Amino acid sequence: MGFFGGFKVTFQEMFKPRVTTTYPESKRPKPIRHHGRHVLNRYEDGMEKCIGCELCAGVCPARCIYVRGADNPPTEPVSPGERYGFVYEINYLRCIHCDLCVEACPTEAITESKLFEFSFTNREDAIYTKDELVVGDDGAPQHLPWEDWRQDDDTHTSAWMRATSPSGSAAYAGRALWSGELGYGVRAAEQGQSGEAQLRPPHDIDPNVAGADGDPSGDGGHGSDHAADGTSHTAGGGTH
Ligand code: SF4
Ligand code: SF4
Repeated sequence: MGFFGGFKVTFQEMFKPRVTTTYPESKRPKPIRHHGRHVLNRYEDGMEKCIGCELCAGVCPARCIYVRGADNPPTEPVSPGERYGFVYEINYLRCIHCDLCVEACPTEAITESKLFEFSFTNREDAIYTKDELVVGDDGAPQHLPWEDWRQDDDTHTSAWMRATSPSGSAAYAGRALWSGELGYGVRAAEQGQSGEAQLRPPHDIDPNVAGADGDPSGDGGHGSDHAADGTSHTAGGGTH
C-alpha cells in the first residue's frame, strides 16, 4: 500500500456508522443474563425470602458472602420459615458474579440485577449489607446514591436461572421455574437454547425418549399442554 493508499483507508472508515457510544451518558442495552449487583427479594406480602440457611455462603467460590440466621420472632416473623437471615453481607471486592449463590438458594431470595456501575473509595463501602441489598416495598432494588441505574437494570434479575433447570434436562426449557418478583409479577419462562414453542409437561418426561436428552425437536413426538411463554404456571410452581 502506497502513501496515498493509507489515506484511502482512512476516508473509507470516516463514512461508516460509528460503533462507539458516549459512555457513560449513553449505554448499550445489557444482555438479559448479565450478572450484576445482587438483590435480596421479598414475597408479595413483604416477607423476606431469605431463611438464613447459608447455602449461598457455602457455595460461593470467592468466600464473599457472610450470612447469619436467627429464629423468627413468633409475633413479628421476618420470613415465612422458622428462621431468617438477620445478617447478610456481600463483599464486592471479591465477588466474581458467577451466580452460583443464586443457583444454590432454595427460596430464590438472592438474585443478581444487571447493575455493574457502582464504585467505592474504601474497603468498608465495598461490603453491601442487608439493608442495602433487600428490595423496597415495591419489589424493586434500592437505587443507592452511588449507583448508576438505568432502565431495565433492575428487571429480570438472574434470568439465567430460567434458561436452565434443576435437573439440567433440556426438556424443562420453557417451563417457568421461577417465582414472581415482588413488584414485577410472575415472569414467563425463557425459551432456552432450542427456542421450541411447544414443550411436554413434566410428568411426561422420559430420559429414554427424544427431547429429554437434548433433542432439538424438544417434543419427542408428544403433544403439549403448556403455553410457550410459561403463562400457564403460577409463581413458585416450578420443581425446586
Ligand atoms: S456471584 Fe459468585 S462470587 Fe459473587 S457472591 Fe455469588 S457465589 Fe459469590
Ligand atoms: S439467600 Fe438463599 S441461600 Fe442464602 S442464606 Fe438466604 S435463603 Fe439461604
